[in-house]
Amino acid sequence: MKALQYRTVGAAPEVVTVPDPEPGPGQVLLKVTAAGVCHSDIAVMSWPAEGFPYELPLTLGHEGVGTVAGLGAGADATGLKEGDSVAVYGPWGCGTCANCAQGKENYCLRADELGIRPPGLGAPGSMAEYMIVDDPRHLVPIDGLDPVATVPLTDAGLTPYHAIKRSLPKLVPGSTAVVIGTGGLGHVAIQLLRAMTAARVIALDVTEDKLALARTVGAHEAILSDKDAAAKVRELTGGRGAEAVFDFVGVQPTVETAGAVAAIEGDVTLVGIGGGLLPVGFGATNFEVSVTAPYWGSRGELIEVLDLARAGAVSVHTETYSLDDAPLAYERLHDGKINGRAVILPNG
Ligand code: NAD
Ligand code: ZN
Ligand code: ZN
Repeated sequence: MKALQYRTVGAAPEVVTVPDPEPGPGQVLLKVTAAGVCHSDIAVMSWPAEGFPYELPLTLGHEGVGTVAGLGAGADATGLKEGDSVAVYGPWGCGTCANCAQGKENYCLRADELGIRPPGLGAPGSMAEYMIVDDPRHLVPIDGLDPVATVPLTDAGLTPYHAIKRSLPKLVPGSTAVVIGTGGLGHVAIQLLRAMTAARVIALDVTEDKLALARTVGAHEAILSDKDAAAKVRELTGGRGAEAVFDFVGVQPTVETAGAVAAIEGDVTLVGIGGGLLPVGFGATNFEVSVTAPYWGSRGELIEVLDLARAGAVSVHTETYSLDDAPLAYERLHDGKINGRAVILPNG
């Protein structure tokens, strides 16, 4: 089968032919319908050879939707059957530690020790005609949802959903939420905020077309992310700032903006992995600001995100590419040219 692989540190990913995978005991073989292109892959492909955490070659793709094409021994015990259309829960854990028992496999206590890696981030991912899912519990039926519009929800939806849920008690009527970076994750975050809260949403990005998308998907205000952005947010909030700030870029200038606009007792959530650091200490931010940097979301939260989508609350903007054109999708994402999420269709 064809697969998109990152093969050499520093080189572009390549479409190659690899052996067709076979599901082992308990595993599920998916014929991949759609695979989302995440900026985290670009970060991975920028890491140096020294200390690179995954084995190469690596089949990319940590957002996946497919149809069940084969079941390993015992994998049918859950009622899963061939032809079922399913979304892949990506942050695989052991399934039995204290965190996994709560569905928080993204915070599995034993994944490192057991060498368990998410598809596309260590294990072979979704940018291939077929992929192996290690356990049926990592699949959620999409039940009538469109595969292309749904695949980004497994990360670009789930990650902001998890972040927003933490701050829900603060996002009361009259409050403000700031979204920095309105790309794949950010443009979904705006819609989730509008569906889940009464907060006023202020979006920040660096180009007019990204700001236009932010407005289209529900931002009340969309402003350029520059050195004056924090002052503008303060002005728009009568000096109070934002009760919750979500940074989907995470570089030094954006984490500084995030810290500067957080209201007293506000939440700052750094989702982007741009390497920026926000100092915490008396006087560094407003009083009693909480700063966190979460990773992905829980199994239960993915089910909730798909339920929200089924209720019509989120509409992901997508551009589709063939598997052969997947390297181009990464190039365009790297150059800031994707509006919304790029989705690869490995089987056409
Ligand atoms: P994306 O490229 O689709 O979106 C990023 C957006 O940020 C783009 O619209 C870009 O124009 C904008 N941007 C760039 N510089 C900016 C600046 N200085 N100010 C404001 N906006 C700016 O990327 P994505 O796939 O949505 O991923 C966003 C970030 O989240 C990445 O860093 C990614 O690695 C990270 N991520 C983290 C997790 C997690 O679990 N923590 C999960 C998925 C993605
Ligand atoms: Zn991702
Ligand atoms: Zn675990």
